[in-house]
Amino acid sequence: MEKYEIAVRNGIVLTMDDEMKVFSPGSIGIEDGEIRYVGGDEVRGEEEIDARGCIVTPGFVNCHTHSPMTLFRNAFEDQPLEKWLKEYVWPVEARLKPEHVKVGALVAAAEMALNGVTCFNDMYFYMDQVAEAVVEVGIRGVLSEGLVELFSDRASEEILRKGTEFARRYHGWKGMIWAALGPHAEYSCSLEFLRRVREEADRLGVGIHIHLAETKPPVDEFVRAHGKTPIKALDEIGFLRNDVLIAHAIYLDDEDLRIIRERDVAVAYNPVSNMKLASGAARIEEMMRVGIRVGLGTDGPGSNNTLDMIQDMKIASLLQKLKYMDPSSLPARSVVRMATRGGAEALNLDHMIGSIEVGKRADIVVINTRKVRYQPIRDPYTALTYCGSGSDVRDVIVDGRIIVRDGVLQTIDLEKVLEEFERAVSDLFG
Ligand SMILES: [Zn+2]
Repeated sequence: MEKYEIAVRNGIVLTMDDEMKVFSPGSIGIEDGEIRYVGGDEVRGEEEIDARGCIVTPGFVNCHTHSPMTLFRNAFEDQPLEKWLKEYVWPVEARLKPEHVKVGALVAAAEMALNGVTCFNDMYFYMDQVAEAVVEVGIRGVLSEGLVELFSDRASEEILRKGTEFARRYHGWKGMIWAALGPHAEYSCSLEFLRRVREEADRLGVGIHIHLAETKPPVDEFVRAHGKTPIKALDEIGFLRNDVLIAHAIYLDDEDLRIIRERDVAVAYNPVSNMKLASGAARIEEMMRVGIRVGLGTDGPGSNNTLDMIQDMKIASLLQKLKYMDPSSLPARSVVRMATRGGAEALNLDHMIGSIEVGKRADIVVINTRKVRYQPIRDPYTALTYCGSGSDVRDVIVDGRIIVRDGVLQTIDLEKVLEEFERAVSDLFG
Protein backbone atom coordinates (compact mmCIF):
# COMPACT_ATOMS: atom_id res chain seq x y z
CA MET A 1 0.00 0.00 0.00
CA GLU A 2 1.35 3.40 -1.01
CA LYS A 3 2.25 5.75 1.86
CA TYR A 4 2.05 9.57 1.67
CA GLU A 5 2.64 12.53 3.99
CA ILE A 6 -1.11 12.94 4.37
CA ALA A 7 -3.80 10.43 3.43
CA VAL A 8 -7.53 11.17 3.33
CA ARG A 9 -9.15 7.76 3.49
CA ASN A 10 -12.47 6.17 2.57
CA GLY A 11 -14.53 9.27 1.86
CA ILE A 12 -17.09 10.03 -0.84
CA VAL A 13 -14.66 11.96 -3.04
CA LEU A 14 -16.13 14.45 -5.52
CA THR A 15 -13.14 15.14 -7.75
CA MET A 16 -14.67 17.85 -10.00
CA ASP A 17 -12.35 16.64 -12.77
CA ASP A 18 -13.41 16.86 -16.43
CA GLU A 19 -15.51 13.71 -16.13
CA MET A 20 -16.86 14.69 -12.70
CA LYS A 21 -15.58 11.36 -11.32
CA VAL A 22 -16.76 10.32 -7.86
CA PHE A 23 -14.89 7.71 -5.79
CA SER A 24 -16.98 6.12 -3.06
CA PRO A 25 -15.12 5.04 -1.10
CA GLY A 26 -12.18 7.06 -2.36
CA SER A 27 -8.82 8.09 -0.99
CA ILE A 28 -6.34 10.89 -1.59
CA GLY A 29 -2.57 10.88 -1.14
CA ILE A 30 -0.77 14.18 -0.57
CA GLU A 31 2.96 14.89 -0.72
CA ASP A 32 4.76 18.26 -0.72
CA GLY A 33 1.46 20.12 -0.82
CA GLU A 34 0.43 18.38 -4.01
CA ILE A 35 -2.17 15.73 -4.79
CA ARG A 36 -0.23 12.58 -5.78
CA TYR A 37 -3.05 10.06 -5.74
CA VAL A 38 -6.84 10.05 -5.98
CA GLY A 39 -8.88 6.93 -6.56
CA GLY A 40 -10.48 3.85 -5.10
CA ASP A 41 -7.37 2.17 -3.70
CA GLU A 42 -6.47 2.13 -0.02
CA VAL A 43 -3.62 4.51 0.84
CA ARG A 44 -1.76 5.19 4.09
CA GLY A 45 -0.27 8.40 5.41
CA GLU A 46 2.09 9.61 8.10
CA GLU A 47 -0.94 11.70 8.98
CA GLU A 48 -4.34 10.23 8.22
CA ILE A 49 -7.83 11.67 8.00
CA ASP A 50 -10.55 9.05 8.23
CA ALA A 51 -13.34 10.35 5.99
CA ARG A 52 -15.70 7.38 6.25
CA GLY A 53 -19.27 8.56 5.59
CA CYS A 54 -17.97 12.07 4.82
CA ILE A 55 -18.20 13.97 1.55
CA VAL A 56 -14.79 15.17 0.36
CA THR A 57 -14.61 18.10 -2.07
CA PRO A 58 -12.02 20.47 -3.47
CA GLY A 59 -11.73 23.61 -1.34
CA PHE A 60 -14.51 26.10 -1.90
CA VAL A 61 -13.58 29.25 -3.82
CA ASN A 62 -15.41 32.36 -2.67
CA CYS A 63 -15.40 34.51 -5.80
CA HIS A 64 -16.48 37.84 -4.35
CA THR A 65 -16.28 39.29 -0.86
CA HIS A 66 -15.04 42.19 1.26
CA SER A 67 -13.55 40.27 4.15
CA PRO A 68 -12.98 43.09 6.70
CA MET A 69 -16.70 43.85 6.56
CA THR A 70 -17.17 41.31 9.34
CA LEU A 71 -16.88 44.58 11.29
CA PHE A 72 -20.20 45.62 9.69
CA ARG A 73 -21.96 42.36 10.34
CA ASN A 74 -25.41 42.59 11.91
CA ALA A 75 -25.44 46.40 11.62
CA PHE A 76 -27.62 48.61 9.39
CA GLU A 77 -29.86 45.77 8.34
CA ASP A 78 -32.61 45.69 5.74
CA GLN A 79 -31.59 48.73 3.65
CA PRO A 80 -31.32 49.18 -0.13
CA LEU A 81 -27.76 49.16 -1.52
CA GLU A 82 -27.40 52.89 -2.33
CA LYS A 83 -28.68 54.00 1.06
CA TRP A 84 -26.75 51.30 2.87
CA LEU A 85 -23.48 52.37 1.22
CA LYS A 86 -23.83 56.13 1.23
CA GLU A 87 -25.54 56.74 4.57
CA TYR A 88 -24.06 53.96 6.67
CA VAL A 89 -21.09 52.08 5.31
CA TRP A 90 -18.98 54.86 3.76
CA PRO A 91 -19.13 57.22 6.79
CA VAL A 92 -17.95 54.42 9.12
CA GLU A 93 -15.33 53.29 6.60
CA ALA A 94 -13.91 56.80 6.72
CA ARG A 95 -12.94 56.09 10.35
CA LEU A 96 -11.32 52.71 9.63
CA LYS A 97 -7.72 52.23 10.66
CA PRO A 98 -5.38 49.51 9.39
CA GLU A 99 -5.62 47.62 12.70
CA HIS A 100 -9.44 47.44 12.38
CA VAL A 101 -9.09 45.98 8.90
CA LYS A 102 -6.53 43.44 10.09
CA VAL A 103 -8.73 42.00 12.80
CA GLY A 104 -11.85 42.13 10.59
CA ALA A 105 -10.01 40.17 7.91
CA LEU A 106 -8.65 37.69 10.46
CA VAL A 107 -12.17 36.92 11.65
CA ALA A 108 -13.36 36.54 8.04
CA ALA A 109 -10.45 34.32 7.02
CA ALA A 110 -11.01 32.18 10.11
CA GLU A 111 -14.72 31.89 9.35
CA MET A 112 -14.01 30.98 5.73
CA ALA A 113 -11.44 28.34 6.71
CA LEU A 114 -13.90 26.81 9.18
CA ASN A 115 -16.51 26.73 6.40
CA GLY A 116 -14.21 25.03 3.90
CA VAL A 117 -13.30 28.10 1.84
CA THR A 118 -9.67 27.70 0.81
CA CYS A 119 -9.43 30.62 -1.64
CA PHE A 120 -11.29 33.92 -1.85
CA ASN A 121 -11.46 36.97 -4.09
CA ASP A 122 -11.44 40.12 -1.98
CA MET A 123 -11.78 43.86 -2.50
CA TYR A 124 -11.32 46.39 0.30
CA PHE A 125 -8.92 49.01 1.75
CA TYR A 126 -5.66 48.48 3.66
CA MET A 127 -5.10 45.27 1.74
CA ASP A 128 -1.63 44.79 3.23
CA GLN A 129 -3.44 44.00 6.47
CA VAL A 130 -5.78 41.60 4.66
CA ALA A 131 -2.74 39.89 3.14
CA GLU A 132 -1.26 39.46 6.64
CA ALA A 133 -4.52 37.89 7.83
CA VAL A 134 -4.58 35.51 4.86
CA VAL A 135 -1.03 34.38 5.61
CA GLU A 136 -1.75 33.90 9.33
CA VAL A 137 -4.88 31.81 8.74
CA GLY A 138 -3.28 29.89 5.89
CA ILE A 139 -5.80 30.19 3.06
CA ARG A 140 -5.35 31.64 -0.43
CA GLY A 141 -6.48 35.10 -1.49
CA VAL A 142 -6.85 37.11 -4.66
CA LEU A 143 -6.70 40.60 -3.20
CA SER A 144 -7.49 43.98 -4.66
CA GLU A 145 -7.40 47.44 -3.18
CA GLY A 146 -10.90 48.89 -3.76
CA LEU A 147 -10.51 51.97 -5.97
CA VAL A 148 -13.39 54.41 -5.45
CA GLU A 149 -12.53 57.30 -7.73
CA LEU A 150 -15.60 59.51 -7.95
CA PHE A 151 -16.52 59.92 -4.30
CA SER A 152 -12.98 60.64 -3.21
CA ASP A 153 -11.19 63.95 -2.70
CA ARG A 154 -7.89 62.41 -3.74
CA ALA A 155 -6.51 62.64 -7.29
CA SER A 156 -7.36 59.75 -9.62
CA GLU A 157 -3.70 58.89 -10.27
CA GLU A 158 -3.03 58.72 -6.54
CA ILE A 159 -5.97 56.33 -6.07
CA LEU A 160 -4.78 54.15 -8.90
CA ARG A 161 -1.26 54.12 -7.49
CA LYS A 162 -2.54 52.61 -4.22
CA GLY A 163 -3.87 49.66 -6.20
CA THR A 164 -0.83 49.18 -8.40
CA GLU A 165 1.62 49.45 -5.50
CA PHE A 166 -0.24 46.80 -3.56
CA ALA A 167 -0.29 44.55 -6.63
CA ARG A 168 3.46 44.95 -7.08
CA ARG A 169 4.09 43.98 -3.46
CA TYR A 170 1.92 40.86 -3.30
CA HIS A 171 1.12 39.38 -6.70
CA GLY A 172 2.14 35.72 -6.77
CA TRP A 173 3.33 35.62 -3.13
CA LYS A 174 4.35 31.98 -2.44
CA GLY A 175 1.53 30.68 -4.64
CA MET A 176 -0.92 31.76 -1.90
CA ILE A 177 -1.72 35.41 -2.72
CA TRP A 178 -2.45 37.04 -6.04
CA ALA A 179 -3.30 40.66 -6.60
CA ALA A 180 -5.88 42.21 -8.88
CA LEU A 181 -6.83 45.81 -9.56
CA GLY A 182 -10.19 46.63 -7.99
CA PRO A 183 -11.98 49.61 -9.55
CA HIS A 184 -15.09 49.62 -7.38
CA ALA A 185 -17.96 49.98 -9.86
CA GLU A 186 -19.31 51.67 -12.98
CA TYR A 187 -20.94 54.35 -10.80
CA SER A 188 -17.87 55.08 -8.66
CA CYS A 189 -15.20 55.25 -11.41
CA SER A 190 -15.06 57.30 -14.62
CA LEU A 191 -14.49 55.63 -18.00
CA GLU A 192 -11.17 57.43 -18.29
CA PHE A 193 -10.13 55.97 -14.92
CA LEU A 194 -11.19 52.48 -16.03
CA ARG A 195 -9.14 52.86 -19.21
CA ARG A 196 -6.11 53.68 -17.02
CA VAL A 197 -6.87 50.65 -14.81
CA ARG A 198 -6.84 48.44 -17.91
CA GLU A 199 -3.44 49.82 -18.96
CA GLU A 200 -1.96 49.26 -15.51
CA ALA A 201 -3.39 45.72 -15.27
CA ASP A 202 -1.68 44.90 -18.57
CA ARG A 203 1.57 46.42 -17.42
CA LEU A 204 1.49 44.43 -14.16
CA GLY A 205 0.04 41.20 -15.57
CA VAL A 206 -2.78 41.11 -13.01
CA GLY A 207 -6.54 40.67 -13.33
CA ILE A 208 -9.36 43.15 -12.64
CA HIS A 209 -12.16 42.75 -10.09
CA ILE A 210 -15.14 45.13 -10.44
CA HIS A 211 -18.78 45.43 -9.35
CA LEU A 212 -21.00 45.90 -12.38
CA ALA A 213 -24.73 46.16 -13.06
CA GLU A 214 -25.59 45.21 -9.48
CA THR A 215 -28.71 47.35 -9.15
CA LYS A 216 -30.93 49.01 -11.72
CA PRO A 217 -30.76 52.77 -10.92
CA PRO A 218 -26.99 53.21 -11.58
CA VAL A 219 -27.27 51.25 -14.85
CA ASP A 220 -30.18 53.45 -15.99
CA GLU A 221 -28.24 56.53 -15.01
CA PHE A 222 -25.17 55.29 -16.89
CA VAL A 223 -27.24 54.69 -20.04
CA ARG A 224 -28.72 58.21 -19.75
CA ALA A 225 -25.24 59.74 -19.40
CA HIS A 226 -23.39 57.67 -22.02
CA GLY A 227 -26.10 56.49 -24.42
CA LYS A 228 -25.05 52.86 -23.93
CA THR A 229 -24.89 50.19 -21.24
CA PRO A 230 -21.84 49.93 -18.96
CA ILE A 231 -20.80 46.65 -20.63
CA LYS A 232 -20.86 48.22 -24.10
CA ALA A 233 -18.98 51.28 -22.88
CA LEU A 234 -16.33 49.11 -21.19
CA ASP A 235 -16.00 46.99 -24.28
CA GLU A 236 -15.43 50.04 -26.45
CA ILE A 237 -12.47 51.12 -24.33
CA GLY A 238 -10.97 47.61 -24.54
CA PHE A 239 -11.51 46.93 -20.84
CA LEU A 240 -13.19 43.53 -21.13
CA ARG A 241 -10.92 40.49 -21.37
CA ASN A 242 -10.56 37.06 -19.84
CA ASP A 243 -8.72 38.48 -16.81
CA VAL A 244 -11.74 40.55 -15.74
CA LEU A 245 -14.14 39.27 -13.08
CA ILE A 246 -17.46 41.07 -12.78
CA ALA A 247 -19.33 40.80 -9.51
CA HIS A 248 -23.14 40.62 -9.82
CA ALA A 249 -23.79 41.39 -13.55
CA ILE A 250 -27.53 41.46 -12.94
CA TYR A 251 -28.85 44.19 -15.26
CA LEU A 252 -27.59 42.97 -18.64
CA ASP A 253 -29.35 42.97 -21.99
CA ASP A 254 -28.83 40.23 -24.59
CA GLU A 255 -26.12 42.20 -26.34
CA ASP A 256 -24.25 42.62 -23.00
CA LEU A 257 -24.40 38.85 -22.45
CA ARG A 258 -23.02 38.24 -25.93
CA ILE A 259 -20.12 40.65 -25.29
CA ILE A 260 -19.30 38.99 -21.94
CA ARG A 261 -19.16 35.61 -23.64
CA GLU A 262 -17.15 36.86 -26.58
CA ARG A 263 -14.56 38.58 -24.37
CA ASP A 264 -14.49 35.56 -22.05
CA VAL A 265 -15.18 37.73 -19.00
CA ALA A 266 -15.90 35.85 -15.73
CA VAL A 267 -18.87 36.53 -13.46
CA ALA A 268 -19.29 36.18 -9.69
CA TYR A 269 -22.84 35.24 -8.69
CA ASN A 270 -23.78 36.45 -5.19
CA PRO A 271 -27.31 35.19 -4.60
CA VAL A 272 -27.63 35.93 -0.88
CA SER A 273 -26.43 39.51 -1.12
CA ASN A 274 -28.56 40.07 -4.24
CA MET A 275 -31.66 38.81 -2.44
CA LYS A 276 -30.93 40.57 0.85
CA LEU A 277 -30.40 43.97 -0.78
CA ALA A 278 -33.25 43.20 -3.21
CA SER A 279 -30.85 43.93 -6.08
CA GLY A 280 -32.23 41.32 -8.46
CA ALA A 281 -31.41 37.88 -9.86
CA ALA A 282 -28.63 37.45 -12.41
CA ARG A 283 -29.16 35.40 -15.60
CA ILE A 284 -26.83 32.67 -14.40
CA GLU A 285 -28.58 29.75 -16.06
CA GLU A 286 -28.26 31.46 -19.47
CA MET A 287 -24.64 32.45 -18.79
CA MET A 288 -23.70 28.86 -18.02
CA ARG A 289 -25.51 27.56 -21.08
CA VAL A 290 -23.33 29.71 -23.36
CA GLY A 291 -20.12 28.83 -21.52
CA ILE A 292 -19.47 31.99 -19.50
CA ARG A 293 -17.22 31.22 -16.50
CA VAL A 294 -19.30 31.73 -13.34
CA GLY A 295 -18.09 31.45 -9.77
CA LEU A 296 -20.09 31.69 -6.55
CA GLY A 297 -19.54 34.49 -4.05
CA THR A 298 -20.86 35.34 -0.61
CA ASP A 299 -20.24 39.09 -1.01
CA GLY A 300 -19.22 40.91 2.16
CA PRO A 301 -20.43 39.83 5.61
CA GLY A 302 -22.28 43.16 5.80
CA SER A 303 -24.72 41.96 3.15
CA ASN A 304 -24.96 38.19 3.67
CA ASN A 305 -24.21 37.93 6.79
CA THR A 306 -22.08 34.79 6.84
CA LEU A 307 -19.27 33.43 4.68
CA ASP A 308 -20.85 30.01 4.36
CA MET A 309 -20.48 28.82 0.77
CA ILE A 310 -22.39 25.58 1.43
CA GLN A 311 -25.45 27.48 2.61
CA ASP A 312 -25.10 29.82 -0.36
CA MET A 313 -24.98 26.91 -2.83
CA LYS A 314 -28.52 26.02 -1.87
CA ILE A 315 -29.73 29.59 -2.18
CA ALA A 316 -27.85 29.96 -5.50
CA SER A 317 -29.80 27.07 -6.90
CA LEU A 318 -33.17 28.10 -5.43
CA LEU A 319 -32.93 31.66 -6.76
CA GLN A 320 -32.29 30.45 -10.32
CA LYS A 321 -35.23 28.04 -10.11
CA LEU A 322 -37.48 30.88 -9.00
CA LYS A 323 -36.14 33.35 -11.59
CA TYR A 324 -36.81 30.99 -14.49
CA MET A 325 -39.83 29.31 -12.84
CA ASP A 326 -38.07 26.07 -13.68
CA PRO A 327 -37.04 23.54 -10.99
CA SER A 328 -34.35 22.12 -13.27
CA SER A 329 -32.40 25.42 -13.23
CA LEU A 330 -28.91 25.30 -11.66
CA PRO A 331 -29.07 21.72 -10.36
CA ALA A 332 -27.01 20.50 -7.40
CA ARG A 333 -24.13 19.10 -9.47
CA SER A 334 -23.70 22.39 -11.34
CA VAL A 335 -23.78 24.47 -8.20
CA VAL A 336 -21.18 22.33 -6.39
CA ARG A 337 -18.98 22.68 -9.46
CA MET A 338 -19.59 26.44 -9.52
CA ALA A 339 -18.52 26.75 -5.86
CA THR A 340 -15.26 24.86 -6.41
CA ARG A 341 -13.81 24.41 -9.88
CA GLY A 342 -16.00 27.12 -11.42
CA GLY A 343 -14.56 29.64 -8.97
CA ALA A 344 -11.01 28.53 -9.75
CA GLU A 345 -11.76 28.97 -13.46
CA ALA A 346 -13.31 32.40 -12.91
CA LEU A 347 -10.11 33.49 -11.14
CA ASN A 348 -7.86 31.81 -13.76
CA LEU A 349 -6.39 29.55 -11.05
CA ASP A 350 -7.78 26.23 -12.30
CA HIS A 351 -4.36 25.03 -13.44
CA MET A 352 -3.52 24.88 -9.70
CA ILE A 353 -6.69 24.43 -7.67
CA GLY A 354 -10.42 23.73 -8.03
CA SER A 355 -10.42 19.95 -8.45
CA ILE A 356 -8.99 16.85 -6.78
CA GLU A 357 -6.62 15.65 -9.48
CA VAL A 358 -3.06 14.41 -9.45
CA GLY A 359 -0.68 17.33 -9.92
CA LYS A 360 -2.96 20.00 -8.43
CA ARG A 361 -2.25 21.69 -5.11
CA ALA A 362 -3.94 19.93 -2.20
CA ASP A 363 -6.89 22.14 -1.20
CA ILE A 364 -9.36 19.64 0.23
CA VAL A 365 -12.42 19.77 2.46
CA VAL A 366 -13.93 16.93 4.49
CA ILE A 367 -17.57 17.50 5.37
CA ASN A 368 -19.10 15.41 8.12
CA THR A 369 -22.19 14.03 6.42
CA ARG A 370 -22.65 11.24 8.95
CA LYS A 371 -25.29 13.47 10.50
CA VAL A 372 -29.00 12.88 10.51
CA ARG A 373 -29.83 15.84 8.24
CA TYR A 374 -28.01 14.19 5.29
CA GLN A 375 -29.52 10.71 5.55
CA PRO A 376 -29.90 8.85 3.28
CA ILE A 377 -27.22 10.43 1.10
CA ARG A 378 -28.24 8.77 -2.24
CA ASP A 379 -26.65 11.46 -4.46
CA PRO A 380 -23.75 13.35 -2.78
CA TYR A 381 -24.23 16.54 -4.84
CA THR A 382 -27.87 16.72 -3.82
CA ALA A 383 -27.14 15.93 -0.17
CA LEU A 384 -24.43 18.57 0.02
CA THR A 385 -26.38 21.30 -1.78
CA TYR A 386 -29.83 20.92 -0.29
CA CYS A 387 -29.04 19.46 3.17
CA GLY A 388 -25.62 20.99 3.75
CA SER A 389 -24.25 23.55 6.19
CA GLY A 390 -20.79 25.06 6.49
CA SER A 391 -20.81 24.11 10.15
CA ASP A 392 -20.49 20.46 9.10
CA VAL A 393 -17.03 21.09 7.64
CA ARG A 394 -14.70 18.95 9.75
CA ASP A 395 -11.22 19.05 8.20
CA VAL A 396 -9.64 21.49 5.78
CA ILE A 397 -6.34 21.14 3.95
CA VAL A 398 -4.80 24.07 2.09
CA ASP A 399 -1.66 23.59 0.01
CA GLY A 400 -1.08 20.30 1.79
CA ARG A 401 -1.34 21.78 5.29
CA ILE A 402 -4.14 20.76 7.65
CA ILE A 403 -5.53 24.11 8.85
CA VAL A 404 -8.80 22.82 10.32
CA ARG A 405 -8.90 19.52 12.19
CA ASP A 406 -12.08 18.13 13.78
CA GLY A 407 -13.71 21.54 13.34
CA VAL A 408 -10.92 23.43 15.14
CA LEU A 409 -8.79 26.05 13.42
CA GLN A 410 -5.14 25.10 13.89
CA THR A 411 -3.41 28.26 12.72
CA ILE A 412 -4.49 31.18 14.94
CA ASP A 413 -5.79 31.70 18.49
CA LEU A 414 -9.39 32.45 17.56
CA GLU A 415 -10.49 33.39 21.11
CA LYS A 416 -7.82 36.06 21.32
CA VAL A 417 -8.67 37.37 17.85
CA LEU A 418 -12.36 37.59 18.76
CA GLU A 419 -11.50 39.69 21.84
CA GLU A 420 -9.53 42.12 19.66
CA PHE A 421 -12.38 42.10 17.15
CA GLU A 422 -14.88 43.12 19.84
CA ARG A 423 -12.65 46.05 20.81
CA ALA A 424 -12.40 47.12 17.14
CA VAL A 425 -16.18 47.03 16.74
CA SER A 426 -16.81 49.19 19.82
CA ASP A 427 -14.04 51.55 18.71
CA LEU A 428 -15.78 52.03 15.33
CA PHE A 429 -19.41 52.10 16.37
CA GLY A 430 -19.10 53.41 19.93
ZN1 LIG B 1 -19.36 43.44 -3.36
